[in-house]
Amino acid sequence: GTPSAEELLRGLDPEQLEAARSVRGPVCILAGAGTGKTRAITHRIAYAVATGVVPEQQVLAVTFTTRAAGEMRGRLRALGAPRVQARTFHAAALRQLSYFWADAVGGPRPTLIDSKIRTVASAARSCGFQVDRSELRDLATEIEWAKVTQTRPVDYENTVAKEGRTPPMPPRDVARVYEAYEELRSEHNLLDFESMLELTAAMIHERPDIAERIRSQYRYFVVDEFQDVNPLQKLLLDAWLGDRDDICVVGDPSQTIYTFAGATPAYLTGFREAYPHATFVRLVRDYRSTPQVVRVANTVLRAAGSGAAPREHRIELVAQRPDGPEPSYTEYDDEPAEATSVAGKISALIDSGVPAREIAVLFRTNAQSAAYEQALGDAGVPYTVRGAAQFFDRPEIRAALHTLHGAARGDDGAPMVATVRHLLQPLGLTEQPPEGRQAREKWESLAALAQLAEDVAAQRPGAGLADFVAELQARAATEHAPGFEGVTLASLHAAKGLEWDAVFLVGLTEGMLPIVYAETPEQVEEERRLFYVGVTRAREHLHMSWSLARSPGGRRTRKPSRFLDGLRPESPSPAGRRGEPRRRKDRVLRCRVCGATLLEAAERKLGRCLDCPSPYDEELLERLRQWRREVSAAQKVPAYVVFTDATLQA
Ligand code: ATP
Ligand code: MG
Repeated sequence: GTPSAEELLRGLDPEQLEAARSVRGPVCILAGAGTGKTRAITHRIAYAVATGVVPEQQVLAVTFTTRAAGEMRGRLRALGAPRVQARTFHAAALRQLSYFWADAVGGPRPTLIDSKIRTVASAARSCGFQVDRSELRDLATEIEWAKVTQTRPVDYENTVAKEGRTPPMPPRDVARVYEAYEELRSEHNLLDFESMLELTAAMIHERPDIAERIRSQYRYFVVDEFQDVNPLQKLLLDAWLGDRDDICVVGDPSQTIYTFAGATPAYLTGFREAYPHATFVRLVRDYRSTPQVVRVANTVLRAAGSGAAPREHRIELVAQRPDGPEPSYTEYDDEPAEATSVAGKISALIDSGVPAREIAVLFRTNAQSAAYEQALGDAGVPYTVRGAAQFFDRPEIRAALHTLHGAARGDDGAPMVATVRHLLQPLGLTEQPPEGRQAREKWESLAALAQLAEDVAAQRPGAGLADFVAELQARAATEHAPGFEGVTLASLHAAKGLEWDAVFLVGLTEGMLPIVYAETPEQVEEERRLFYVGVTRAREHLHMSWSLARSPGGRRTRKPSRFLDGLRPESPSPAGRRGEPRRRKDRVLRCRVCGATLLEAAERKLGRCLDCPSPYDEELLERLRQWRREVSAAQKVPAYVVFTDATLQA
């Protein structure tokens, strides 16, 4: 049954309780990772609904990712508030804009673009610039930054000079591409995310009647991950609020990871000035992770420069959970070896009872995903890449969207499902699934699309093809692939706010994390916060790894990330890497069969090498334990130090 109001409060600690009970007026929860911020606001909403103070349809909870929105809706449903809207800024804006489009804007509906790359490429070409893919990506990010910070093309040069930014091209050239991009966009009736937010905010400002309708619909606002709100999102939030102050924000300045894209923690840290009468809550108990993981997180926090998290906002997390396995640090010769080993460890975890959906592999750049997709595929482990957008990025789905979009122009409103099936047939939606893995996968995604058409028709009888296409566009921009559960492969950015039993942080080398183009100290600090976000996703198992070469036999030129300094046993001290170099050779235990580096804690639990996997003999284990006891007693080194065969025999 639905929990009662009292039951909703029972699962909270005193500080969370204070936040939950402050149902009206401004509330700010500023706290570290895993301290239950999201849980506190979810219970706060459910409590407010259960006590009747707030009608559930009038709550808008804004989350950072679609996955987080989905999880919050799930939690709210379980807590008896199924009708609360939990959405990203984008999804919420898109709904409002589509709803009022005809009335407020008029004309043909624009095509929503979730990536700027193609349009930026055309814009750069039209200005006569030769740019490669990575420059294009940087340009797209820069244009995004300009739009998010409300910098128009004409002001761009000045703003950049004032802010001391280092744009990917001379500012004058960026401004030209930016202007050409905006022209192309309006010429082809394309709408990007920033313009979507801007248009929605403008609509509310310019049309008091629409503002009134939106404001009577939404009265209570909750914003998760408020440290990464950007000026444009803040503008929209203020438009929603009008002169009211029923707003609850939660965030962690140490997890600010989007300043590169124009976000700023200043709205969070400055909440007190904006709302002096706000209820302020701090949380320090870490409910998510084991003490072993929390120790790593605290070490990373201590190493962080002031940057986005001024001293008064810094905290030490206090672990609440029982002990778990020690985090592991593993070095590999090359990337495929790293991926294969990680896939092997994941298989072993699944065999030991950890569900696949409770495991994640997190990396800095999406390009790193491929090696893991391959390795997990080879190991027969189900996985899903990033969750979001992926489904709509598949070539067959893109082709299908194109076809449906074209057909929707001549939509005569006839029972829609049959039309969709008919249109998908030539693309490969046969009656029976075809043979062969690739053909079958393609068929399955088309079938999923047809199923979606049925769902839409069931929910909205009378929906035509144009409605279905509009729905698809909205989903492509904001939602997940239809349900599938496996190991998550995600970028660190996409992992924010989420948690898994086991987390593999891979590719931890200089150049990857911090990423090679993080040049200024501020950029490096943002990379460090990204590492902190990664570490704090793990409930129990935290495996960190890196490889020295890109491919087998390649030159081993890579270095482990500086963020591992002071964490991994053989690393130099964090203070400038000047500590006395330890002889690594003495500290590595290799599997006698495959030669892989063994990490004591994890191996001991499983009783075998995770790489080959050969049994780990009892005699070796015993000697290892003995050494560990002696060394930790003598030198107070962390318990996860490992030793070579040679040392053991000494
Ligand atoms: P992040 O900064 O990563 O977003 P968060 O502060 O939002 O983290 P939550 O996701 O709300 O943290 O909580 C982390 C985990 O701890 C969740 O699994 C949650 O259910 C659990 N948790 C939170 N508060 C409590 C509590 N009072 N008692 C028991 N478990 C809790
Ligand atoms: Mg959270």
